[in-house]
Amino acid sequence: MATTTIQDRTRWDTLHKNGPFPLKFFLTTKLEKNSSGLNDFEKYNDAAAEIQKLIKQAADSHQRFRAIGSKWSMSNIAHAEDRMHFNSFMNLKFPIFEGEMHEDSTYEHSNLFLFQCGNQIKEISRFLERRGKSLKTSGASNGQTIAGCISTGVHGSTIDVGSVQDYVVGLNLIVGPRPKDVIYLERASKPALRDTYIQNFQARIIRDDDTFNAALVGLGSMGFIHGVVIEAENLYLLHRFVKKIDKARALELADTLDFSGFDPQIPGADFNGVRPFHYKVFTNPYSDEDKYPVEFIYKIKYYENYKADFGNPIPFQKEFVYLDLIYLFIKIAEKLPKSIPKLINLLKSSILPKEEKTTVGKLSEIFWDAGYQGRAFACSFGVDHTHSSKALELLAKLTRDNPVPGIFAMRFIKKSEATLAFSRFPFTCMVEIDGIQWSDKEKIISLQEYSKKMIEVLKDNNIPFTIHWGKNAAWDFPGLVEHMFGEDVKKWKKVREELLTVPMQEVFSAPFLDTTKLSEPLPNTEDLIV
Ligand SMILES: Cc1cc2nc3c(=O)[nH]c(=O)nc-3n(C[C@H](O)[C@H](O)[C@H](O)COP(=O)(O)OP(=O)(O)OC[C@H]3O[C@@H](n4cnc5c(N)ncnc54)[C@H](O)[C@@H]3O)c2cc1C
Repeated sequence: MATTTIQDRTRWDTLHKNGPFPLKFFLTTKLEKNSSGLNDFEKYNDAAAEIQKLIKQAADSHQRFRAIGSKWSMSNIAHAEDRMHFNSFMNLKFPIFEGEMHEDSTYEHSNLFLFQCGNQIKEISRFLERRGKSLKTSGASNGQTIAGCISTGVHGSTIDVGSVQDYVVGLNLIVGPRPKDVIYLERASKPALRDTYIQNFQARIIRDDDTFNAALVGLGSMGFIHGVVIEAENLYLLHRFVKKIDKARALELADTLDFSGFDPQIPGADFNGVRPFHYKVFTNPYSDEDKYPVEFIYKIKYYENYKADFGNPIPFQKEFVYLDLIYLFIKIAEKLPKSIPKLINLLKSSILPKEEKTTVGKLSEIFWDAGYQGRAFACSFGVDHTHSSKALELLAKLTRDNPVPGIFAMRFIKKSEATLAFSRFPFTCMVEIDGIQWSDKEKIISLQEYSKKMIEVLKDNNIPFTIHWGKNAAWDFPGLVEHMFGEDVKKWKKVREELLTVPMQEVFSAPFLDTTKLSEPLPNTEDLIV
């Protein structure tokens, strides 16, 4: 049997210490041992039964229950005040074979895999690479869990690919303690798995596009995501090069995403006019340099001995992690806020990527581990890419007027079909500021106030925006979620109310949902025309 340890706790915190937040119980479920003789399907179903038992216990105690992944989100989205469940030991992996495919499926079976929720991106990549496959994209680092990634909508800067949830083709949800609360969900328009295969998981099948799209970015509140079916692709290589280019050109490329007349002039390679796989612009808001460091990544064909030609990509990537030195500088900045611009300028060589060196590697090697474990903040706004330069200018000016210890970047993502994905524009530019947390007691503007001003400045300038669910924001800003997502908020709530019974909606709620009013029921579902 899968076993769960339940620890009494008084508080819980995120990886980057954005809390602490109050907590009663911390639960960790481990799978049945290999020596038990159970096969992987049996172990998976045994874990499902254990999760249903835990959900029932929470409901019977009138308490909330929330699954967490690697606790990498910096907002309080992963927090619940009663029971939090750590998933990382739930990491079974299933390749999908030809006979397991739905008869109308257009997917290639060898690209489909079912991963249990607690699998981290890095272990999924290792598993796929052994089979000659790769994820289509990931975030900038690889320690998040697959369920955690899709629940907030994790993205890289893969212009024409999208975010992690965009290659998910099936979801196994546990929405309550009853047998019918184990659900397998996929799109009616793109079925993937054969019913007889799904029966291995004793799951009720729902094939519906709207339901699937709403559950994809579920904010931890569409039940417990037990398994995720993803579409991978054949291994490929990424050719990465960072160089400074004229600020005006970098911004023009951001606003147009038109690379047809642009030659990045990368030594030893010809990418003239080629649209990159990934385009990222870094900016220091405190510098008026006329050039910006820009990261160009191009997708190239995989071949075995690329390391003989380009060296090992990983030691080079390691150099980009934040340094503890930054933390020391921040301590100084807290005492002397006026020094922030100078300090950031001094630090830029360690926090901006090194320029003019080609790195070639697999996705998992280019987007590698995050080293820094200390206090950090990140605010990340999505705007239509045509507004990229304007949004950056407004947010950078706000930051110069109210200095905080951070550096901006812009990344670009294709639109997602997920109802509450922040990548909701045809191409979304994520304008993000990352940095080290400071103390509210000091003379620097508070993070809450700074985040509120960021929202205000975009609203005042009529720039439609979204915010990354897993990042810091003034989430209590009145009407924020409706402002960002309009009628889609109702669509999302409607699906949640269809999938979860009223008691289960409360079990799977959390302070983040209360603050954003997403836990508030729809006024009268029957009157809704959505
Ligand atoms: C170093 C670092 C780098 C980052 N880089 C990026 C980046 O490049 N791009 C980007 O978009 N974001 C990035 N982020 C943000 C982070 O990746 C996201 O917030 C992500 O969602 C965290 O995943 P996680 O596994 O840690 O989940 P958590 O933060 O633990 O949880 C996130 C959400 O998932 C839910 N959840 C987790 N498991 C389940 C489950 N089984 N069932 C239901 N709900 C579940 C939780 O309840 C919560 O709502 C970064 C964060 C850090 C700390």
